[in-house]
Amino acid sequence: MTNDIDARLHAKEKRRDRIETFLKQHPVILVLKTNLPGDKTHSTEAALLLRQFNHLCETFLHIPGEFHQAADGDYYLYGTKTDATKLKKHMLYLEDNHPLGRLVDLDVHTPKGPLTRKQLNVTERRCFLCDKPATVCRRENNHDENELVAFIENRVRREILDALKRTAVDALRKEIFTYPCFGLVSSKNSGIHKDMNISHFLSALEVLEQAFETYLRLGLEDTIDLDALRARGKEHEERLLSHCKNINTHKGAHFIFGLILPHMIRTLFANGTFDAMLAAIKKDAAKITTSDFTNLKTAKTCGEKAYQQHQIKGVRGELENGLQSIMDWYPQKTLSPIQKLVKIMARLEDTTLMKTGKETLNDVKACMQAVEAADFQTLEKIQDCLKDTVSPGGAADLLAVTFFFENTDHLFAKTP
Ligand SMILES: [Zn+2]
Repeated sequence: MTNDIDARLHAKEKRRDRIETFLKQHPVILVLKTNLPGDKTHSTEAALLLRQFNHLCETFLHIPGEFHQAADGDYYLYGTKTDATKLKKHMLYLEDNHPLGRLVDLDVHTPKGPLTRKQLNVTERRCFLCDKPATVCRRENNHDENELVAFIENRVRREILDALKRTAVDALRKEIFTYPCFGLVSSKNSGIHKDMNISHFLSALEVLEQAFETYLRLGLEDTIDLDALRARGKEHEERLLSHCKNINTHKGAHFIFGLILPHMIRTLFANGTFDAMLAAIKKDAAKITTSDFTNLKTAKTCGEKAYQQHQIKGVRGELENGLQSIMDWYPQKTLSPIQKLVKIMARLEDTTLMKTGKETLNDVKACMQAVEAADFQTLEKIQDCLKDTVSPGGAADLLAVTFFFENTDHLFAKTP
């Protein structure tokens, strides 16, 4: 116990020294730390909170945070020239209004010392549970530690689940609004499709959001029961089809996100890396491929026909290979959406391009490989050429997955 207190005091001193040193190089320092009870200081929740808020701070300040481990809780430091008072006001806003803001401290230091709420005439911080001043509840020991821990665990779970669900739906929406996009349905026109338009796609998102909630919840259970996941998937797929009056807008995307989402949330709460998530997805996708294709007699869907005639596994194969059509080049966040789409099309066995046989797929792939090799110089011409003939539905689904990863990959542990 004494050792523990010593270690925490020592950590506090060390942080103070580090801030002093940092202040010799930068006029203003921001310190991001979690504000959790002792037992939770080094928990998965703490790690997720730090990564989430580090992402916000880095995006806001346009500088990378410097990560430090410490016995009293890990933290990030940011050295900046931003006006200290303005920065403190923004950070107070986050602390008081972000759904997880009460669980972190965002302290601003200058050579004159830390800026306080009192100096800015802002009310003191509130307790997580009862909304009294936090200092009062701490001094009077108002709450049982178990109550606090349960609150923190539930709040972080709920927020991460909501964030993943929202980001997945936003990624699909962003894909629908991507233009130019060859002959896919977009906000400008229906591409080569006569039976559907953007309204069908946008209204499907409501059903998908409910489906995603189900899959994320399954991911938080002790083990991911693949049979249960597929049974729920089948139900949601039917709801999706009937909602869209039997027009298939998101069958592929629903399948892909249905496998990614539970594995992602599971990996995040196991403090795992992005690669650990991919490994888990590969394993389950291999089981799905075996069960779907091994005893396939009459091929009904486009995907089943592609496998029976050409041994092409389509979206299942892509998941089994750990999303190689994306991971081959990911991340390249500065590329335009259509450039990302080209990169995917250059690699993917997109069964939606195999309606008349394998030739279209092979031609399109070769064409996209050439566009990529020419550093996209020929893209405009090719886009114009293919916009009335080619609708790469499978690649579009993976473009949405790319958008999704770009907005969530900061949540993963960097090292195993
Ligand atoms: Zn309280």
